[in-house]
Amino acid sequence: MIKKRIILILTAVILFFAVLPRLIIIVEAFKKEKAYQFMVNGEPWFIVSEKDSLERILGEYQEQYLANIDKNAQVKKVTFSQKVEIVEVEVKPEEIDSLELAKEKIYAVEEAAVEIEIKKGDNFWNLSKANQITVNELEILNPDVDPDKIFPGEKLIVKPFNPVLDVSIELENLVVEPVPFKIEYKKDHSLFKNDKKILKEGVEGQKEVNYHITLLNGYQSSLQIISEKNLQEPVNAIVQIGTKTTVSRGGKINYGVVSGKRISSLYGYRIHPITGRRRFHEGIDIAATHGNRVYAYTDGRVVEAGWNGGYGNCILIDHGNGLKTRYAHLSKIYVRIGQKVRAGERIGAIGSTGNSTGPHLHFEVIKNGQTKNPLNYI
Ligand SMILES: [Zn+2]
Repeated sequence: MIKKRIILILTAVILFFAVLPRLIIIVEAFKKEKAYQFMVNGEPWFIVSEKDSLERILGEYQEQYLANIDKNAQVKKVTFSQKVEIVEVEVKPEEIDSLELAKEKIYAVEEAAVEIEIKKGDNFWNLSKANQITVNELEILNPDVDPDKIFPGEKLIVKPFNPVLDVSIELENLVVEPVPFKIEYKKDHSLFKNDKKILKEGVEGQKEVNYHITLLNGYQSSLQIISEKNLQEPVNAIVQIGTKTTVSRGGKINYGVVSGKRISSLYGYRIHPITGRRRFHEGIDIAATHGNRVYAYTDGRVVEAGWNGGYGNCILIDHGNGLKTRYAHLSKIYVRIGQKVRAGERIGAIGSTGNSTGPHLHFEVIKNGQTKNPLNYI
């Protein structure tokens, strides 16, 4: 009887100890909590208990890149470049990370931005060369800087900061842009070839351009025009032009001051397709072959001839009656300050000095201290 009882007790004890670990495991398992694991490209970064808070932090992180975008732009998509997942998991309380740690990891930076200070004589051309990026890239990194007007002491970003978690933004923006007017020439045998009389001023038209833009960490990575719609047709200018020859200019298109290929940039306001900010272009850019001759617009006296910041090699001629003309980005200057020049006289050669992405003439017309649309003058 006693023997039987002992066996029974022993069996109970053995069973108890055999089951106990499993019981502990089950109890432990019940102690596990539901939590959220943040994964980047399949790699676990951290675990947090609140999904809402994590999503809020991620949202705030992405939003910092929306701050500089034009308020009128339509943001189509905000995503991470990496594959980002929030996975529901069951974990022990001690495996859960704080939101502070989560934020730290989300905001982590791989490489800080590189900034340089503009020194006297600097321009986008030499700065881009010195920093091994293109002028275009330099403009993309510094959308608020007008390359024609940079000043010593100002800072320029030459390399963007590189966050660990990349944010890609797709947006569309409707921007109103000018449409150039054409010039109708009326020949006049009593005038010299360089003499022109504006019979009717041209008026630029307007078009609406729809841009599709992709930003990576706030900077443009692609820009495409989806559609263009004319809002207002331009009104052509009518100019009386002399036929009496003084100089032969040849070339494709005679713009008077240079024989060029086309007008690559118009006078007036441009709206930055990303920031929506407006910038004024004080002249027109005429794309032309490097070395092409540049001629004085009309009779006058040279008041500036030499290097002028973003303008590069630049000439300013005073024609009297409050009229001045500027010729920028020249490769060569053939005149000196104080020199008198005649209409059509060779004064320089096409170049790409200063802030210029290619050989062209930046031509400005200044009337009583204010720039005018040169299309009405050439
Ligand atoms: Zn220009």
